Amino acid sequence: MATRLAVSRCGPLPAAARRSPLVSCRRWFGASADTVYDVVVSGGGMVGAAMACALGHDIHFHDKKILLLEAGPKKVLEKLPETYSNRVSSISPGSATLLSSFGAWDHICNMRYRAFRRMQVWDGCSEALIMFDKDNLDDMGYIVENDVIMNALTKQLEAVSDRVTVLYRSKAVGYSWPGPFSMADSSPWVHITLGDGSTLQTTLLIGADGHNSGVRQAAGIQNVSWNYDQSAVVATLHLSEATENNVAWQRFLPSGPIALLPLSDTLSSLVWSTSHDHAAQLVSMDKEEFVDAINSAFWSDANHTDFIGSAGSMLQYAVALLKPSKVSARQLPPSVAKVDAKSRVLFPLGLGHAAEYVRPRVALIGDAAHRVHPLAGQGVNMGFGDISSLLHHLSTAAFSGKDLGSMSHLTGYETDRQRHNTALLAATDLLKRLYSTSATPLVLLRTWGLQVTNAVSPLKEQIMAFACK
Ligand SMILES: Cc1cc2nc3c(=O)[nH]c(=O)nc-3n(C[C@H](O)[C@H](O)[C@H](O)COP(=O)(O)OP(=O)(O)OC[C@H]3O[C@@H](n4cnc5c(N)ncnc54)[C@H](O)[C@@H]3O)c2cc1C
Repeated sequence: MATRLAVSRCGPLPAAARRSPLVSCRRWFGASADTVYDVVVSGGGMVGAAMACALGHDIHFHDKKILLLEAGPKKVLEKLPETYSNRVSSISPGSATLLSSFGAWDHICNMRYRAFRRMQVWDGCSEALIMFDKDNLDDMGYIVENDVIMNALTKQLEAVSDRVTVLYRSKAVGYSWPGPFSMADSSPWVHITLGDGSTLQTTLLIGADGHNSGVRQAAGIQNVSWNYDQSAVVATLHLSEATENNVAWQRFLPSGPIALLPLSDTLSSLVWSTSHDHAAQLVSMDKEEFVDAINSAFWSDANHTDFIGSAGSMLQYAVALLKPSKVSARQLPPSVAKVDAKSRVLFPLGLGHAAEYVRPRVALIGDAAHRVHPLAGQGVNMGFGDISSLLHHLSTAAFSGKDLGSMSHLTGYETDRQRHNTALLAATDLLKRLYSTSATPLVLLRTWGLQVTNAVSPLKEQIMAFACK
């Protein structure tokens, strides 16, 4: 009760006092029981850690106190392991720009990553394919190990330790709002209880705590979600021979998409989405059988039919007559020779989307706000996009001395990001469904759709521009 009174009396503060609530709130009302932060980011995965980094490096946050809470331990790579990690992400140029803006991309470049310049996506039930490439040989994206991204972010968090406190092995177990939610800027600050019983308060709580977000649940934000009938098997693969290896490959099989992402001249990373039973078999079968299954998944024509083949060829012929030079030719994916020991792991897949990304004093980012099938390689990129947008709105608010938890700028973030994220979630879900069948009418529809999209450069460029954000 004492805390509740203290907090409700705390807000709103005059602009000058609001600059550093940790100091000013105590000076204003005498000593408070809790530590007060301007921003608390709950969840220090790739998205939460990047958010805290971005805030810590923002010039308008130089006098703010930021806290990052992470339930897990601090992850630092004393030395880059020779063996590649099986958890990698395809990072878009837009995400690389965000990571560069606060110095993390330089660390990634000094550790390791692999750029890819083309992406070939093709149907397992027909010859239809789409090839994305850039005429000027710009990078389309980068394959980076998640551990490398986390290591870079940890280093950049250390560089701003005067304004960003990071508490590892600190799980937030309760969030409460001493009064009812209101649209007014004077709504009371958020109270956070940690696993060790300590409590703190913040003017803005950013939920970056993953797809089972406790922040989202405590704020009572509805989440539309379902589990897919698929799990993704990941593994690190050795190619049969060294190649330029700068193409990301994805083939849509009726059981789910299989993707090969370049890591080095001789190594690639596998993401194979398939039925739960098949995924379980893939991780437990012996290594040689696993490698055969991958090669067959990329090369076999077992799902092709003569009818679809002829119908597809007819359209391909017509397209070639209309646009003789523009249609990209099929390339063959590399063959796989070996899998790294113990690199096979599976992840059940699902979709989720929060009905609201913001409430007074709360914003959701990353998987806490949206969870997507990995077939588009967009999950963490969407999270990094959230950061760019939220940072923009918060930085403007901080510059003007406004209350960071106010809905007046948080809604701007929500509008920006829901527009982008819902389009991506819907497109990804549609693709997953459209390709999860070998029914002839649908195979024909998608074969023609893919062939036409491949031939119409402006359409392809728009898709690329959207995915590169
Ligand atoms: C197989 C697979 C392949 C993928 N490939 C790609 C890809 O190529 N490109 C791409 O963009 N995306 C990809 N993704 C998606 C991407 O991995 C996720 O979108 C991303 O990891 C989400 O990051 P996050 O930080 O939002 O959430 P998380 O990674 O879930 O992190 C949440 C963090 O919050 C912490 N936490 C949770 N609760 C609390 C609490 N109460 N208190 C304190 N801390 C807490 C957790 O410990 C965790 O560290 C892939 C996903 C899968 C499964």
